[in-house]
Amino acid sequence: MKALVLTQPNAPFEMSEVADPVAGPGEAVARVLACGSGLTIQHVKAGRIPVEFPRVIGHEITGEVVEVGAGVTAVAVGDAVTVYGYLCCGHCHWCLSSLEPLCEAAGGGVGIVGMSCDGGYAEYLKLPAHNFIKIPAGIDYKAYPAEIGVITDALTTPYKVLGRAGVKAGETVAVFGAGGGVGIHQVMLAKWAQAKVIAVDVVSDKLDACREAGADEVVNAANGDVAEALLDFTGGRGVDVAIDYVSVSSTLEAAVNALARRGRLVTLGGAGESFQVSASDLLYKEQAVLGSRYATRRELLETLDLVARGEIWPQVTDIQPWTEAEALHQRVERGEVIGRAALIVG
Ligand SMILES: [Zn+2]
Repeated sequence: MKALVLTQPNAPFEMSEVADPVAGPGEAVARVLACGSGLTIQHVKAGRIPVEFPRVIGHEITGEVVEVGAGVTAVAVGDAVTVYGYLCCGHCHWCLSSLEPLCEAAGGGVGIVGMSCDGGYAEYLKLPAHNFIKIPAGIDYKAYPAEIGVITDALTTPYKVLGRAGVKAGETVAVFGAGGGVGIHQVMLAKWAQAKVIAVDVVSDKLDACREAGADEVVNAANGDVAEALLDFTGGRGVDVAIDYVSVSSTLEAAVNALARRGRLVTLGGAGESFQVSASDLLYKEQAVLGSRYATRRELLETLDLVARGEIWPQVTDIQPWTEAEALHQRVERGEVIGRAALIVG
């Protein structure tokens, strides 16, 4: 089969002929139709997330099962599938508690499709069969393979945050990095949850897109004090929830300083920097600082169901044939993509 292979960090893709994957016991192979091209996998390509090379990246996948190994009953040949992105042990305390992202699998962390094994930038993809999740019948994956592929991360990750932060109707939610591939879906989902949404970003085109996606207010962080702007928008009360997809010290501190009483700050990686927070504020204002990592299988199923019911539609603005992967990833690297990018594979 053909695959876009990375042979070392910060190198271009090589369209290569590699061996067809064969499904062993408990495994399945899917033909890949499309794969999302988000910043996370660009971090791998650029060498900012270390992996073993050669590697085929990509985890936001739409595919069709073409082969199942011995003992596989969960999926069958011909099933339309997407992919649950974490490779979990299935039997540790956290897996058994349906909190798969916290899996204690070997090495102290879960494996990730397209990082610890080959992913979706290839004609075929082999995974443990239970990592393939059937696409609900109401979703036209053949017409929209790019959109359906990105549900598994760009839409499910922010969906999980609504529960993690306990977002309630009528609350005010600020999204930092709102114009990015996951941030814009956080804006859409917070609106879906009937919150008032303030989008924070540094690019005015992206803030325009956030308004179109439903943001009630926008703050350009390049133009001054973000915490002050958020306090102004809320009449001095502060935001109930701040969700930080950038997570550098300055955004985290702006977010925590803009929190209302009982406010919750959620960080989702990004730069993952350290920051200053006042324990007295946490105490006297009963505030909380939370981390949120990917999502559970159940949250993926719930998000697929939201799309099947027509309540949310993934925003993929830059869809290219996989022969254009290099140029597309350069746009992702430069932060030029509004919403999500994706490749049509094969
Ligand atoms: Zn586990």
